[in-house]
Amino acid sequence: MALQHLSTRINLTAMLGAIIGDIVGSRFEFSKQTTSDFELFTSDCNFTDDTICTVAIADAILHNQPYGETLHAWCRRYPTPMGGYGDKFSLWVESENPQPYGSSGNGSAMRVSPIGWLFDDYHDVLREAEKSAVVSHNHPDGINGAQCVATLIYWLRTCRITKDEIESAVRRNFGYHLTSLRDIYKIGSEGHFDGLCNETVPYAISCFMESQSFEDAIRTAVAAGGDTDTKAAICGSIAESYYEIPEEMVEKAYSYLPDEMLDVITLFHEKIQNGL
Ligand SMILES: [Mg+2]
Repeated sequence: MALQHLSTRINLTAMLGAIIGDIVGSRFEFSKQTTSDFELFTSDCNFTDDTICTVAIADAILHNQPYGETLHAWCRRYPTPMGGYGDKFSLWVESENPQPYGSSGNGSAMRVSPIGWLFDDYHDVLREAEKSAVVSHNHPDGINGAQCVATLIYWLRTCRITKDEIESAVRRNFGYHLTSLRDIYKIGSEGHFDGLCNETVPYAISCFMESQSFEDAIRTAVAAGGDTDTKAAICGSIAESYYEIPEEMVEKAYSYLPDEMLDVITLFHEKIQNGL
């Protein structure tokens, strides 16, 4: 059910959109998944780097800690997640003194959703998204991807934009031209791995645009192939600011997560209810 008629959404599943997309997409990363008819949660699924990094960003905001240090600490606690970390991000995690490495990869966009939920001013959202990106992904495209996803979440949850306005808004504000679902599926079926913000972010937005529900958005993003878990995480993080997440999907996702992640999510939802 779309909720754009409400003035502002109070969402006690916030941030789970990214996590659910990550878990559902996890078993299809590096495969050529091209159908949306699959079982959502199986024993082959798990959370991956997208969930770890998303929880880390939320944790940093909640405890007013630097994004880089918090992200580094969380990734070090999970050094070998399913699917691993990207090659250069692995070196960043392993480093004793991690420095930004000019990345324009999609990692800045997949972890940013807590910022879209917790900040209530457009300029704060842009600034915090940039701050969360530049600790590793300080290429302008990496920053832009994070800002676009956080802003879309903020716009949709506060009903500042309708779904019909998204295509022109992301083109105008972030320079993204949405790709038809048919072309995205063709790219995915050819085995291309969309690892850059400039690919994954507009693809994920396009998958959301074509969706009829939260579950449909996740299925559409996973079936597009390529970087399935990250594309579904980004698509899911946008979709949850527009649709309700079915309760059974929330409960299934929780069953994959360790207690320390659940603690952050619980605190995050309390903050959304009470304000930062
Ligand atoms: Mg991943």
